[in-house]
Amino acid sequence: IHDRRQREAFWMPFTANRQFKDAPRLLVSAEGVHYTTADGRRILDGQAGLWCVNAGHGRRRIVEAVHRQLEELDFAPTFNMGHPLPFELANRLAEITPGDLNYSFFTNSGSESVDTALKIAIGYHRARGEGSRLRLIGRERGYHGVNFGGSSVGGIVGNRKQFGTLLPGIDHLPHTLNLKANAFTRGQPAEGGAELADGLERLIGLHDASTIAAVIVEPVAGSAGVLLPPKGYLRRLREICDRHGILLIFDEVITGYGRLGTPFAADYFDVLPDIITTAKGLTNGNVPMGAVFVRPHVYEAFMQGPEQLIEFAHGYTYSGHPVACAAALATLDIYAEEGLLTRGTDLGPHLENAVHALKDLPHVIDVRNLGLVAGIEMEPRPGAPGARGFEVHRRCFDNGALVRYTGDIIALSPPLIIEPEQIDALVGIVADAIRATA
Ligand code: PMP
Repeated sequence: IHDRRQREAFWMPFTANRQFKDAPRLLVSAEGVHYTTADGRRILDGQAGLWCVNAGHGRRRIVEAVHRQLEELDFAPTFNMGHPLPFELANRLAEITPGDLNYSFFTNSGSESVDTALKIAIGYHRARGEGSRLRLIGRERGYHGVNFGGSSVGGIVGNRKQFGTLLPGIDHLPHTLNLKANAFTRGQPAEGGAELADGLERLIGLHDASTIAAVIVEPVAGSAGVLLPPKGYLRRLREICDRHGILLIFDEVITGYGRLGTPFAADYFDVLPDIITTAKGLTNGNVPMGAVFVRPHVYEAFMQGPEQLIEFAHGYTYSGHPVACAAALATLDIYAEEGLLTRGTDLGPHLENAVHALKDLPHVIDVRNLGLVAGIEMEPRPGAPGARGFEVHRRCFDNGALVRYTGDIIALSPPLIIEPEQIDALVGIVADAIRATA
């Protein structure tokens, strides 16, 4: 892979990130909260893989479950029942999902979960005789994967502009009322959430509620740089959606499975959406899988005919794949036994104190955190947005920590098994990198 042609053959996702001009930095093995590089260096994983390896790397229990499952039943289609595992998994998930979000539709990724959820929302209204409800509403700076639906409701401009208009009938809620406001401090959501959420009323006034199917938001926007919602925002969205018969979807691909110190963000914010999308932590990132959870009124809207069979013309060859289900079940066992879904509540204050010590470093303009996720935002270098973030990221890697950068924001989301001393080490490496970066 030291030859350029070999490197180019793999068209990397989000290729703009391929900024290593020399040979790529390869991770070849992993254990616990560490990766090992091809040249034998240990790297502290400050981003849980890609916000997914919540139980840490190299979990024997998952390895063995996957191995066993591959030997026993490698594949069975679930289009006509198929095999027992998705039933077992869906019932296990119903025990930990918020409220009555008790029905699971299985996918293979976050992007697929999002597009599935959007189709559920439109199908739901149509099944209830409200076929005019086709409009979908996302939020500025929201990230919902890269399939057509998710790209369309997504609000990160750079991810959209190459692809034209994408789907029609999409609007985006404003991210903040005051673009200059720095509204996200010390893990305490700023005020003004209800007022911000009232932006939804304006869209309803413009289009009429009878044309709107759903609103989708990330409870905490991860990919845009760990943006916490101002206080009361999600609750007010819920109220407005209820008033107008609009479905509310929480995209919990990042926040699901313990990231905020509660099993789901819906638990943390105490707001129950109609639909939740997940992936990543469902299988500890070990096997591709996603799940969409819906409440009974959503599920039941799809019941058709005298036998009340559910009718939903959507699904994947790998929906409920036996190996993915086995990995998910083993992951849920680990989460339960080690109390990982709430560990962020205990460790969050430690991370908070550590990252807030970075506030006075040069270029740092904001620090925010919740549970086991934190964002450190730096002032962009004039004329070179993102350059500082990339440099900090690279210095961290050279000094033994993998951290995510989005533009000039460094995001930390370590595995939920991380120990306090390791948090200190991680944040220390980030601090050194920021100090060393002009
Ligand atoms: N939604 C959110 C909130 C995400 O953070 C992501 C991935 N970072 C996705 C959807 C897409 O997931 P995937 O990359 O598995 O398709």
